[in-house]
Amino acid sequence: MPELKFSEAQEMLRKVVREFVEKEVVPIAHRIDVENECPVDVFKKMGTLGFAGVFVPQEYGGAGMGLTERAIILEEISRHAAGFAMILMTHHLGVEAILSYGTEEQKRKYLPDLASGRKIGGLAVTEPSGGSDVGGQQTSAEFKDGRWVLNGRKCFITNSSNADVTVVTARTGEDAKGRPAFGAFILEAGTPGFAPGREENKFGLRGSGTGDLLLNDCEVGEEALLGAQGNGAKLALATIAKVGRTGMSAISVGILRGCLEEGVKFAKERILYGKPIAKLQAIQLEIAQNRVDYEAARLLTYQAIGLKESGANCDAEIAAAKYFSTEAAVRSAKRTIDLMGGYGVMNDYPVGRYLRDAMATIPSGGTSHVMQLVIAGQTLA
Ligand SMILES: Cc1cc2nc3c(=O)[nH]c(=O)nc-3n(C[C@H](O)[C@H](O)[C@H](O)COP(=O)(O)OP(=O)(O)OC[C@H]3O[C@@H](n4cnc5c(N)ncnc54)[C@H](O)[C@@H]3O)c2cc1C
Repeated sequence: MPELKFSEAQEMLRKVVREFVEKEVVPIAHRIDVENECPVDVFKKMGTLGFAGVFVPQEYGGAGMGLTERAIILEEISRHAAGFAMILMTHHLGVEAILSYGTEEQKRKYLPDLASGRKIGGLAVTEPSGGSDVGGQQTSAEFKDGRWVLNGRKCFITNSSNADVTVVTARTGEDAKGRPAFGAFILEAGTPGFAPGREENKFGLRGSGTGDLLLNDCEVGEEALLGAQGNGAKLALATIAKVGRTGMSAISVGILRGCLEEGVKFAKERILYGKPIAKLQAIQLEIAQNRVDYEAARLLTYQAIGLKESGANCDAEIAAAKYFSTEAAVRSAKRTIDLMGGYGVMNDYPVGRYLRDAMATIPSGGTSHVMQLVIAGQTLA
């Protein structure tokens, strides 16, 4: 199948990731889903290969590559285990927030451990008041006697139990126009008053823990504030667009490739009427649609990432990639299950998991409704 044009170094990276995934991830992909356990040891191994800090400059212990290379890594892992890729994808949210908004001191303190995979990162924005309504966050951060005191509850946070370093947003007061103002804070696991709460039992993207983070009079020094006071919501939205939505797109591209490849394999092996079902035109149509969805998602995703890396204002292109890829992954998984007949719903095959994983990519990083609003907003501007 023709590939997008990647550089030689990027192709080499893809090969390294593919070998790693086949050796370390494929054998445990089903178990990760069944047991819903984050294989922290495999995450640490990814760190030694540079995946945890792929886009972090070498001076902070990273691999010094970019978001395209990151997408290659996420795509390759998600071809077999999107839930595991989700752990890395969210780790990168915390990394990116510190890399783009941290002081030199914060970068030197946190990035080497995060980039090497010795520590796991996260970003906590969503609250029970609604993830789409970022301005509705109730978690508060009060500045008292030179210390920030945080109180509130975050929900649906990936890596909530596993993250060592989480960037948490909280309401710090009001801006000059009386609107709520937010700050972002770097919180370390084990800080008194900061702890994981209930863990969700998701049907998709299992293995990546999702749960509450509780803040009860959690006190941190001024050095925990990330970026300017009042800039927390902007920081979170920019990080989610740049790294979250492009990451979810890349994960969906991996799921789409999984659907395409599993469908082709099954269609060639399953014999009906004395010949493989690949000879049936109805099945060929399903395969063709799977291929078109995969290639379109891939083009949109890598194009949007390329635009972002070139410094373009491309929120709509990123939203389009995320919207199309996540929805296409659901369509493609359903189609693959259909073409497999009864086998499609058997857990001996991974396609049922692909459908569940694809469904779970839709709200993560912003729902399809919200993506369409971003696209329409820029189109109508
Ligand atoms: C697997 C997973 C992992 C996640 N990881 C993280 C994480 O690490 N950190 C984090 O902060 N959050 C995380 N989230 C939360 C995620 O960002 C939110 O689920 C998402 O933003 C939607 O918020 P909500 O679930 O509160 O839905 P709501 O915001 O309550 O939305 C409910 C419905 O209203 C629709 N809607 C909302 N606003 C509008 C509008 N303006 N116009 C039209 N329709 C609208 C939505 O599309 C949806 O259908 C994760 C979620 C999932 C599922």
